[in-house]
Amino acid sequence: MKKTLAAFLCLSLAILSACGTAHEPSSVTAPAHSSLAAVEDITIVYNDSGYPEAPVQADADMLAMDTVMHFRVYARTREEAESTLRASFDEIARLDRLMSTNRRDSDLARLNRIGHAVFSKDSAYLLRRSLEINEVTGGYFNVAVYPLVKAWGFTTAEPHVPSEQEIQALLPLTHLEQVHFDRERREVRFAHNGMGLDFGGIAKGYASQRLMEIFSRHSTVSGLVSLGGNTQLYGGKPDGSPFRVGVQDPAAADRYIGIIRTKDRALITSGIYQRFFEANGRTYHHIIDPATGAPADNSLASATVICNDGTTADALATALMIMGKEQAIAFWRQHSDLFEMVLIEKNRNVSITAGLEDCYIPKDDVLPEVIRREA
Ligand code: AMP
Ligand code: MG
Repeated sequence: MKKTLAAFLCLSLAILSACGTAHEPSSVTAPAHSSLAAVEDITIVYNDSGYPEAPVQADADMLAMDTVMHFRVYARTREEAESTLRASFDEIARLDRLMSTNRRDSDLARLNRIGHAVFSKDSAYLLRRSLEINEVTGGYFNVAVYPLVKAWGFTTAEPHVPSEQEIQALLPLTHLEQVHFDRERREVRFAHNGMGLDFGGIAKGYASQRLMEIFSRHSTVSGLVSLGGNTQLYGGKPDGSPFRVGVQDPAAADRYIGIIRTKDRALITSGIYQRFFEANGRTYHHIIDPATGAPADNSLASATVICNDGTTADALATALMIMGKEQAIAFWRQHSDLFEMVLIEKNRNVSITAGLEDCYIPKDDVLPEVIRREA
């Protein structure tokens, strides 16, 4: 069996600089178990922003949650920028310790090992949100798919195709109603051995949402974070104009297919190119359809969700990828007050929802189809 590991993580949403030229979205080869650098060793690069409202632009990168994270802060002084960024690094390190399935001592690792745990407030919040989004998406977003994620080897450096028998045996262990959750005590217990939870589809959106709270607490003028291509914007540029965020071309990590001009929102992409491997002449990606136990198989190459809340955006982007285009459109029509989306198909067709019409700028010849609220 030909097996090629391509567990690489891309910056699906590139932040475009003020003058309109793109920072090339870089593709990053990261090991499945990247280790966290000591937060005090992270370098902050200071530049003159060119904006009188916030003359200091501070940028920093951090490797955490198996991805490369980029932070940018516009501030009145260096000290202000540094205190915001240091608090952000600490927050990410804290969340990484809580949420990682790879660390022996995280909330999730403990639960997945012994089938029982008392969660931290953050993990309990994420489980509560995950249950809500599972319900609203009709089961597509399902954090209990972990046994399948493991069976496909996405937690390891050697993904592989499990046997049909193995998949069938694991499917009954992925039912969320078998996860008993006492919300008052934040106590979680699995009904069966072999069950497991995975916040990989929602944790980065939660992390970016938390960072917005830190930016706010530090009275930052504005800024943004990009956690492995998941971008969340704090305000706009210091002069009040919108940021420009590039949506990655699924066919090429160094190209974008369109630009979204917006402020104060999370823009989160799920894509079949973000983590995948090849076997038997086929490509298998990491987003599992809970109905089949196999990677979702439809026309979509990526789904980007734009909304005010990072946690919601992350979980919905994962769910839309499994729904496929038609169902994703029907779902948006029911919830168009909650989010906007960009769907890119494998054949490079781009669809955007009506609320993006005025802020989406197509690149080159790839004109989007606009999805209206009424069919
Ligand atoms: P994302 O990149 O946000 O779409 O998240 C993909 C990750 O979420 C995978 O690597 C898995 O860890 C996890 N995952 C896979 N399938 C699902 C699913 N159906 N529901 C929730 N999480 C999932
Ligand atoms: Mg997600």
